[in-house]
Amino acid sequence: MIILHGRSYELPKRPTVVICADGCDPAYIEAGIAAGVLPTIAGWQKTGLYALAKAAMPTFTNPNNLSIVTGAPPGVHGIAGNFALDRASGAEIMMTDPAMVRGDTILARMSASGVAVAAITAKDKLRRMLGNGLKIGAGGAICFSSEHADRCTLAEHGIDHVEALVGRPKPDMYSADLSLFVLDAGIRLVEQGRAQLLYLSLSDYVQHGHAPDEPEALAFHQALDSRLARFEELGCVVGVTADHGMNDKALFDGRPHVIFLEDVLNAEFGQGAARVICPITDPFVRHHGALGSFVRVYRRKAAVPLAAMADMMRPLPGVDRVLTREEAAALYELPLDLEADLVVTGDRNTALGATATEHDLSALAGHRLRSHGGAFEQTVPFLLSRPLAAGYPGRPAALRNFAIFDYALNGVAP
Ligand SMILES: [Zn+2]
Repeated sequence: MIILHGRSYELPKRPTVVICADGCDPAYIEAGIAAGVLPTIAGWQKTGLYALAKAAMPTFTNPNNLSIVTGAPPGVHGIAGNFALDRASGAEIMMTDPAMVRGDTILARMSASGVAVAAITAKDKLRRMLGNGLKIGAGGAICFSSEHADRCTLAEHGIDHVEALVGRPKPDMYSADLSLFVLDAGIRLVEQGRAQLLYLSLSDYVQHGHAPDEPEALAFHQALDSRLARFEELGCVVGVTADHGMNDKALFDGRPHVIFLEDVLNAEFGQGAARVICPITDPFVRHHGALGSFVRVYRRKAAVPLAAMADMMRPLPGVDRVLTREEAAALYELPLDLEADLVVTGDRNTALGATATEHDLSALAGHRLRSHGGAFEQTVPFLLSRPLAAGYPGRPAALRNFAIFDYALNGVAP
């Protein structure tokens, strides 16, 4: 047993696979079940656990992946966005450095306890943080991304020749296969007895581009379902959750529905009054123009009262919440020391940006903007392949996506 952040976790008795299906809004599962293309998940509805959980805020990839592998909210592990403004230096930085992760991960503790651990991600930017603290190398853990599957080494990733292992070349960065490759690599590792605890983190490429009932989305989730069936066949316990949901953020005519908050604030309070940071920003922005529904506002002119800024933004149509630093840290369990002066979230249909010139909307290439980040994308699936152990809490109202390792390791019937 290991203990981390106040929770204990049994060592896996059989291969245990936890999947973060990036951007898998429950609507995708519902649409797939309605279309009859998810027979494995439909079976879990009867014989396993089929529930909904709340993701951590902001509903972005890095904060939630770190929450899942630590079993704790961002206030504990310190990763509160994909991108941030460093309060000390004023520099705008990507949150991909493992040194930013506070404390251990379940994966690192399990590996240190002698469990064969494998963490596989779609995008390499997440790989180093998930691998934080993992002892990689001979006899140690495996940690790699499908994005860089062609350059894995035993020393750095604990594995080599991944393309040969999976049986195809590494997928395109912008493809559904970037995720399927992760799942297939996990299947090979279980088949070969090389991993006992697996964390497989996918990409939300399909969900950003396609609504739940579109053929591309149905085909992708059908392909996911068939991999779940294979893991079950191999005797694995499988848990599936998501880092965030996904909503349409476009107007009736198809243009993105965006409020450029830095433009709005500087028009009201004077040029340079505020800097707005979009923590969704990452190098993987082709399909969302770096627009999400959660931004951080830093006041640059001390003479402007924060309350005046907040009062000005609150009534804007499409704004869900405007919170002070303290309110945001308390309500969303965020690290107070890293938090901005104000936090603003968009509603179900609204994305928030910084300045119109900073966001390349042409990158959407005619697609309706689908994105996430706010409280309207907090509801995610929480699925287990096996029935819960007697007495294990079934569907508590406060179920969180980052309880998935707890449920998969401690909660299933023997
Ligand atoms: Zn994501």
